[in-house]
Amino acid sequence: MLLAEPKLWAKAHFVGTRFGHDTSNVVKSVNKTLMLDQELLILQLLDSLWNRVMDLRFHRLKLATSAHTSEKWTPWARAKLQEHCLLACTNSVVMRSNTQGIVKQLNSNVYPVDLEEGTCSCLVYQENGIPCGHAITAIFAVQGQDITPYMPDILTIKTWKKTYTSNFPLVNITNLQKLPLSECHPPLTRVPCG
Ligand SMILES: [Zn+2]
Repeated sequence: MLLAEPKLWAKAHFVGTRFGHDTSNVVKSVNKTLMLDQELLILQLLDSLWNRVMDLRFHRLKLATSAHTSEKWTPWARAKLQEHCLLACTNSVVMRSNTQGIVKQLNSNVYPVDLEEGTCSCLVYQENGIPCGHAITAIFAVQGQDITPYMPDILTIKTWKKTYTSNFPLVNITNLQKLPLSECHPPLTRVPCG
């Protein structure tokens, strides 16, 4: 029996930063995206996917461009930060150094935080790269109110815009000619039991 490693399916064991992406089943996502396009011929299917991603990229760039220029972080990152800052205000902290400390919540739970490593034992910090409420409590203790040095550059509006600045070229498949090759048939398949 083939056993998948826990890091491939368990959030607690995931290696790296997810930046809020959580896809439970790739087949479900593909089916939801393709919908009726699944009935198309392969060339039309590819054309439809191409145009859909091109349009999606255009709209994302439009959204990123319309973001307020005075803001540094994407709306998603700002909302997360606000949520975490509210939690941070109710905690207390004892620092070991400028980067390490123990944060205590009102319910007496304690969370070791390492600002240099970007970790907290609650694991929320590692999930998105955005300091969790505990880490923000520690940042406030050593840095005042400036969270900027602890935020990942990937969540800036500048990076958001840059991600979608270049788009796919336009492709027109209506006048494509059939190549003089031998016909390509689909593979022989067997209908499985059940
Ligand atoms: Zn935490």
